[in-house]
Amino acid sequence: MKALVKAKSEVGLWMEDVPLPTVGINDVLIKVKRTAICGTDMHIYNWDEWAQKTIPVPMVVGHEFVGEIVEIGSNVNDFQIGQIVSGEGHVVCGRCRNCMAGRRHLCANTSGIGVNRSGAFAEYISLPMSNVWVHKEGTDLDVASLFDPFGNATHTALQWDLLGEDILITGAGPIGIMAAAVCKHAGARHVVITDVVDNRLQLAQRMGATHTVNVTREKIEDVAKTIGMHEGFDVGLEMSGNPVAFNDMINNMAHGGKISILGIPSSDTSIEWDKVIFNMLTLKGIYGREMYETWYKMSVMIDSGLDLNPIITHRLPVDKFQEGFDAMNDGSAAKVVLNWEL
Ligand code: NAD
Ligand code: ZN
Repeated sequence: MKALVKAKSEVGLWMEDVPLPTVGINDVLIKVKRTAICGTDMHIYNWDEWAQKTIPVPMVVGHEFVGEIVEIGSNVNDFQIGQIVSGEGHVVCGRCRNCMAGRRHLCANTSGIGVNRSGAFAEYISLPMSNVWVHKEGTDLDVASLFDPFGNATHTALQWDLLGEDILITGAGPIGIMAAAVCKHAGARHVVITDVVDNRLQLAQRMGATHTVNVTREKIEDVAKTIGMHEGFDVGLEMSGNPVAFNDMINNMAHGGKISILGIPSSDTSIEWDKVIFNMLTLKGIYGREMYETWYKMSVMIDSGLDLNPIITHRLPVDKFQEGFDAMNDGSAAKVVLNWEL
């Protein structure tokens, strides 16, 4: 089968012929229809320091996808050939204390598809049945391919009560933008999002942000004042990984404010601890998606009208994958969806 492979320890990805994956008794084989490019794939493409120490070469990459079940293992009863599915990208052990307690997103032995094990940028992917999410009939395939990052946004946003609350999102990358859509859909009052790039902020506004702040020329506190906010934000979602943005957030929270942190700052990032302590802020790190409560909430939101289509800036046949990776690298893309049905 055809697959996009990290075949050499250098910048790039290569379309190669690789063997079909094996299908164990508890696995399903999925024929891939659409894939989307994630920031993680860009790290691997660009072969940065993290990728060099994490990715064994060769590796079939990618984890954002939707496809159709074409084969099931002999132990699999709950899935049928022909179902349209996505895969939860974290394969968990099922045996550690958290897994046994049903907290699989906290598994001590997580393995990532397209990172630690063979990925989804391929004609077929084999996954344990416990990693398969069946989409509702009629779900838009391009949207379905985004459930992994949409899940990051949903998991981060739905940590806290949002109804009627004022939300600050730092970072209008694809995940921050989707988080703005989730907050608005869940009944937040003001959804203020920050970035340093205007076209990302414009997209965020189309998707549900009520106000945008370009921090290169505006201050969050000034924008908050113009909309009648005086005590700070109730909820913060850190989606930039930028230490400056994180400190901006801490400085603009209401006393008792709650922050969930998805963005990954460098390990030497310092924050104003006195603000955290005297203002009694709650900070919570977020990893991946809850299996499968996050997936359930995502499906319901799509069903009840949340539209992710505006975030898809590029739809390309997979043969033009290079164009998609270039658009991600030059900052002109939000989400790139590659079509494998050729
Ligand atoms: P992205 O890099 O596309 O978006 C980050 C955005 O932050 C960019 O638009 C950038 O312009 C903006 N930014 C930079 N400096 C800023 C500043 N000072 N103030 C405000 N915004 C600023 O990333 P993404 O794909 O949307 O992902 C968001 C973050 O989440 C990344 O840090 C990513 O590594 C992380 N992530 C974490 C998990 C997890 O499980 N914890 C999963 C996926 C992604
Ligand atoms: Zn486990």
